[in-house]
Amino acid sequence: MKKALLNVDYTNDFVASDGALTCGKPGQDIENEIVRITEDFISNGDFVVFAIDLHKEGDELHPETKLFPPHNLEDTSGRLLYGDLQRVFNEQQSNANVYWMDKTRYSAFAGTNLEIKLRECGITEVHIVGVCTDICVLHTAVDAYNRGYKIVIHGSAVASFNQAGHEWALGHFKDSIGAEVR
Ligand code: ZN
Repeated sequence: MKKALLNVDYTNDFVASDGALTCGKPGQDIENEIVRITEDFISNGDFVVFAIDLHKEGDELHPETKLFPPHNLEDTSGRLLYGDLQRVFNEQQSNANVYWMDKTRYSAFAGTNLEIKLRECGITEVHIVGVCTDICVLHTAVDAYNRGYKIVIHGSAVASFNQAGHEWALGHFKDSIGAEVR
């Protein structure tokens, strides 16, 4: 095993029409791709990480509190995976290669044991899907770059509420951190 899929923040709050901080249609449009890629990795026996934002209500010390409305609050339906991706997770949650990981910052590497998990599996290449392209996907990709991973961004399975930011980030992945954008 040497590849991992990092599945970032594809939850109701970030994707559903009534989500607290939603990407809306661009997010909903990638559902089939994100499910297909995730199932592909699972059936290949590759490591699949669900790196999912977790916040507590009224957390005044958290920097996002000043920047965004409350989202992905603990024990709310906003934190469930959007659409068919939740089914995939439900079916696979006892699979040893499927790993749910709470995160509290944009990057899946910030304050988590992600790097230790990847290293113990011998993973050198990370693939990233999810939302938002120019926020959590971006910060995760930059941290992967700084840690020396080969990076593949699935362009058909990332989205943002900010189309200009989405496009800028796709260029940045390719031009500045040497990622393959497919
Ligand atoms: Zn957040």
